[in-house]
Formats: sequence, structure tokens, C-alpha cells
Amino acid sequence: MEKKYIIAGNWKMNKTHLDAKEFIKDIIPQVNKARSTVYIAVPFTALQTAVEAAKDTNIVIGAQNMHDEENGAFTGEISSSQLKCLDVKFVILGHSERRHIFKEDNAFINRKVIRALKDGLKPILCIGETKEEREKKLTHQILDTQFSEGIKNISNEEAANLTIAYEPVWAIGTGISATSEIAENTHTYIRKLIIKYFDNKIANSMHILYGGSVKPDNVEELMQQENIDGVLVGGAALKVESFAQIVNKA
Ligand code: PEP
Repeated sequence: MEKKYIIAGNWKMNKTHLDAKEFIKDIIPQVNKARSTVYIAVPFTALQTAVEAAKDTNIVIGAQNMHDEENGAFTGEISSSQLKCLDVKFVILGHSERRHIFKEDNAFINRKVIRALKDGLKPILCIGETKEEREKKLTHQILDTQFSEGIKNISNEEAANLTIAYEPVWAIGTGISATSEIAENTHTYIRKLIIKYFDNKIANSMHILYGGSVKPDNVEELMQQENIDGVLVGGAALKVESFAQIVNKA
């Protein structure tokens, strides 16, 4: 069976629940014939409204983070069961902003991935090197560490619900996307990592998304690459017009 691409938007800390309702109402007719699966990761405060607005459409709503514990004294945090109860389907984990601004490490991210999978949420595990790491030719080493530590103790069966997003930190929000050649080379390496830590079958079925300054004018070339199975979009997912264009061009 042919793999359906995933086009995912990440709104970060943007939009109220009222904005979310408006956005989803406006984008539904523009993406309802998309060949790809459309994901939108909205802020926690907009989850319930977004899930209701997207009901019975091809738009899948997800969260941008969660804690690994089931419940307890973790002021300001959100658990997987709280997300599941809202009918949230996926969660972005290990985004570079969580790693770099909020100092989340691989062990913490791994615990979240395990929890999400156990509780029936599909995690999108983000990995990616900084500019300095790329310049020092450490990209493969960094990706191997972030990947292998992020997926520790995950069975092959659970891995069927895992998606990887390659997001070079130097390309996020900078307007400088990786070239399709750099992205494809790196995705090919990540595909090999999936074989190394799981197996061929899982490597073939697992989606590897590219993220970092994806726009309507570069999405087609990126999506033509053999190992790019979708994109994760920040800035350009905030406007109905640009996100719909990305979805329909992919
Ligand atoms: C992101 O935040 O995941 C991202 C890829 O952002 P942008 O598209 O704005 O670079």
C-alpha cells in the first residue's frame, strides 16, 4: 500500500481557541480533497475547540507537548490521559524549542514517547542538529543519539505508531530551509537509523517528516525526495492560505 504523506502544522504559542475555530472552519473546504493526512498541533487552550471544529473532516488535531507522568504534582503540565480525553490524536515531542529553551533532555523525551505510545497517542519525535553541530560535521552523531535515546525501550509493535520529524535547528523559523539535497541525504541516514534500531519493515512504514522553513514555494521540491514522507510546518501553518497551499502542493 502506498504511504500517505503527513502534512503537519505546528502553531506553537499562537492563536486563541476562537482563532482556532475560525481557522479550521475556513481551511476545511480548501483541504478536503487532499491526498495527504492533515495534522494541526494547536495550543492546549485551543484543543477542545479545534477537535470539535475538525470533527468528521480529514483534519487531525494534536498537542505540542505533554508530561510523561499520569498525574500528580506537576504544576502547569498536561498528561496524556488529559489529551486523550479530548480526543487528541497525536503529540509533538522533543521539538527543538523544548530541547533548547526548556532544556528537555533525551531521557525525559524518551519517557514521554513511551507514555504517549502506551496511552494511544501518536508521537512525532523531533530530532535535529544545530548550525554549529552541522559545521563541525556532528550531524549524524547528534541524530543517532537523539533518535536512539528517544526510542529506548519501544517495541517494534509500538514503533508502528511513531513518526519522526527531522528539524535542523538552523532551519526552524529562520526562512532558510535545508536544500532538498541536504534534507534527502539526512532523511536517508535517519531511515538507516530506523533499520539499525528497529528493522526494515518499520523503516519502510515509518514517516519521516522534514521541518524547517517549509513554504508553499519549496514544499514540492522537498516532497519529491524519496525519503521525505511529509512536512512539519511552523510559520506558514499560521495562515489558512499558505497552509492550504502547502497541503495541496504536497
Ligand atoms: C517548527 O516549529 O517545527 C518549524 C518547522 O517552524 P518553521 O516552519 O517556522 O521553520
